[in-house]
Amino acid sequence: MRYHAFLIKYAEIGIKGKNRKLFEEALCQQIRLQLKKCEGTFTIDRTSGRIFVNCESEYDYDEVVEHLSRVFGIAGICPTVILPVMSVPELKKAAADFFGQEYPDRAHTFKVHTRRLAKNYPLDSMEINAEIGEAILAAYPEAKVDVHNPEIMFHAEVRERIYLYTHVIPGPGGLPLGSGGKAMLLLSGGIDSPVAGWMVAKRGLKIDATYFNAPPYTSERALQKVIDLASIVARYTGPIYLHNINFTEIQLYIYEKCPHDELTIIMRRYMMRIAETIAKRTKCDALVTGESIGQVASQTTRALGVTNAAVETLPVFRPLIAFDKEDIITISKKIGTYDTSILPYEDCCTIFVAKHPVTKPLLSVIEDHEGNLKEKIDEMFQRALDTDEILIVDENGSRVFKHREDPLVEGM
Ligand code: ATP
Ligand code: MG
Repeated sequence: MRYHAFLIKYAEIGIKGKNRKLFEEALCQQIRLQLKKCEGTFTIDRTSGRIFVNCESEYDYDEVVEHLSRVFGIAGICPTVILPVMSVPELKKAAADFFGQEYPDRAHTFKVHTRRLAKNYPLDSMEINAEIGEAILAAYPEAKVDVHNPEIMFHAEVRERIYLYTHVIPGPGGLPLGSGGKAMLLLSGGIDSPVAGWMVAKRGLKIDATYFNAPPYTSERALQKVIDLASIVARYTGPIYLHNINFTEIQLYIYEKCPHDELTIIMRRYMMRIAETIAKRTKCDALVTGESIGQVASQTTRALGVTNAAVETLPVFRPLIAFDKEDIITISKKIGTYDTSILPYEDCCTIFVAKHPVTKPLLSVIEDHEGNLKEKIDEMFQRALDTDEILIVDENGSRVFKHREDPLVEGM
């Protein structure tokens, strides 16, 4: 076993005052859930503002690092060796050996940083820095000390045992999942919405999702694509409840009754209304979309305003609002959704899309045209809600949680 533990660094949650304990507990819980998926036995230690993942058996280093890299709230992962408390000459030798092991080419600048929590150790932290630095220089003349801008920070922590680490593997940052409540993501098969969901989850929100399906205009394959995307996002967020709503009837009705250049925006407003209804039933605190200013006609500032006006009370989070497509693509590649998102599929919106959609809709005009729907829209709205089929999607796939014909589960 090359490393005995992983020191987990967390940034923001350190500054949450009294809430810090709760945040740390949420973080440890998420770490535990990820480690369950890895080979090996691990324990988690929380001592003096530090979280250590102790490796109690053989394990696969890459697998553990990959899974820890998915835990929101982690700023850095430091593979650590743990040594018994030892005499100064022994520590000097062990530290130099560790340096050589970590950096076999050795031609680096470094600085030693020691925290001495065991106050009975014969040297203080400054003295330990000097002794370890001297030992490394003596063992590897290619290495140099640079206290201002070192390539390597060599950390030593002297506690009831001695901890050495030099590498800090970046974590995703953010806040531990579940610490910020729960949000309902409007998830389509595109590039943007999975990224939007991931970003909100990174700020600590659990994610549920709603997908508007339009059979037979959209196929089983389109649904499967959305499930696959949810499944990738679930690697980071844990299981996602995916509400699969049949939107065909409403879509056809809008098509029949409303001006075609307003179809997308009116459709989007009904999606928002349905998603908000489900969100409230399922105790979500916000809606999330993948909208971004100016990306398409239905996402001009005015169009976004008109869409937003359909939502009654929940805040709508649009984490990608000011992102360029290229930047969204970069994140989608990083989190692993890109290759699935670009697979061809028919979206319910692209089928009914107008050649020249309005780019500067007026709310009063749109509301006026929605008046054309008043005869049947309420019953259709209710029927669409009744079609809600709920799937539980995790990283291994999906299973049906509620069939269309099952009674509704309130407050799930
Ligand atoms: P995405 O790449 O996520 O599909 P997009 O760039 O294609 O987004 P639009 O199709 O205009 O943009 O959709 C804007 C947002 O509306 C999406 O990001 C998503 O949140 C929501 N949305 C669109 N279509 C659907 C759908 N069929 N089911 C659920 N949400 C949808
Ligand atoms: Mg789309």
